[in-house]
Amino acid sequence: MDETMRIGVGVDIHRFCSGDRLMLGGVEIPAPYTVQAHSDGDVVLHALCDALLGAAALGDIGEHFPDTDAAWRNAPSERFVEEVVALLHKRSYRIVNIDVSILLESPKIAPYKQAMRQRIAAMCHLSVDAVSIKATTSEQIGFVGRREGIAAYCVCLLEEQS
Ligand code: MG
Repeated sequence: MDETMRIGVGVDIHRFCSGDRLMLGGVEIPAPYTVQAHSDGDVVLHALCDALLGAAALGDIGEHFPDTDAAWRNAPSERFVEEVVALLHKRSYRIVNIDVSILLESPKIAPYKQAMRQRIAAMCHLSVDAVSIKATTSEQIGFVGRREGIAAYCVCLLEEQS
């Protein structure tokens, strides 16, 4: 057996501004604000891209999809994930599993977790049980607790196939 496992971590944070919805994990969620971003501001998918790129030591989302490039401005984040997944497949990496934590004071995202898992599984060509979505509040402290923004963390495991 000549297989190497590689782990990656990704983090993303966005500031809230006035609006009425959030894109999280490719799912639109009604919210008392939206995020300031060049793209759809999907912190879950941005953290996922960085975890996947990190596991393969292929740089970060800002290098691959610069917001100075008109081709990526306002692009749905799903396209970033699809590009990254294609890059990994080209290099013979297989995604083993993905684990996401979202830090958000409100709204509650429990009703949307399963839809996010399904969206991410489809983007990454995985079964739903290879994708985990978790969420926590920040106990009303820090920028998340003050409802100034949202953060997401993602860890993923890749298998290098040779
Ligand atoms: Mg981002």
